[in-house]
Amino acid sequence: NNFNSLPLSEDIQKALTSLDYKKPTEVQEKVIPAALEKKDLVVKSQTGSGKTASFGIPICELIDWEENKPQALILTPTRELAVQVKQDLTNIGRFKRIKATAVYGKSPFDKQKLELKQKSHVVVGTPGRVMDHIEKGTLKLDKVKYLVIDEADEMLNMGFIDQVEAIIKEVPKNRVTMLFSATLPEDVEKLSIKYMKNPVQVEI
Ligand code: AMP
Repeated sequence: NNFNSLPLSEDIQKALTSLDYKKPTEVQEKVIPAALEKKDLVVKSQTGSGKTASFGIPICELIDWEENKPQALILTPTRELAVQVKQDLTNIGRFKRIKATAVYGKSPFDKQKLELKQKSHVVVGTPGRVMDHIEKGTLKLDKVKYLVIDEADEMLNMGFIDQVEAIIKEVPKNRVTMLFSATLPEDVEKLSIKYMKNPVQVEI
């Protein structure tokens, strides 16, 4: 019942040891194996459950270091969460030298543009700014294989539904989609029905 029983590479195992993650949390036990098998997932779980690593670990495992364009896009409702998720993925992916970039509003666009010009395996961002970068051509999504909609209920409460849908439509259909939410109101369910393929349901 620890991370060694999961099919994870040495680089990821080493990072988990250095983070002092000794065994998977409940959400990680359910999400990591399904995500490694590239299944879509709808996960009802709270902050503090270890949900970030539950998608961060399989994404870092599956990323192809050689590919220069972003392979994973993670949408978050706030800049604070975007920065936190970026940091968590950077830590999990450190021995694999995974590069994560965060983009969010009320912060200079051009600085983010320069960062996106460098290799970014993972982009984490808030919907408005992510859409901005897509529209200005500074964020290319044609290599994205993993899409995470984090804190979906919060994102919809904040009025981001149109932007979230517009972004999803820009991501190649041949992808894995994971949606995380503390609650599953009707509009979140609708989003999952509309854009996900037979998602595995996980409730913590
Ligand atoms: P989250 O729910 O993603 O906000 O994570 C809550 C906290 O738990 C964070 O500080 C993580 O670093 C930590 N954490 C995540 N997974 C584990 C684990 N398997 N063992 C110990 N701590 C963990």
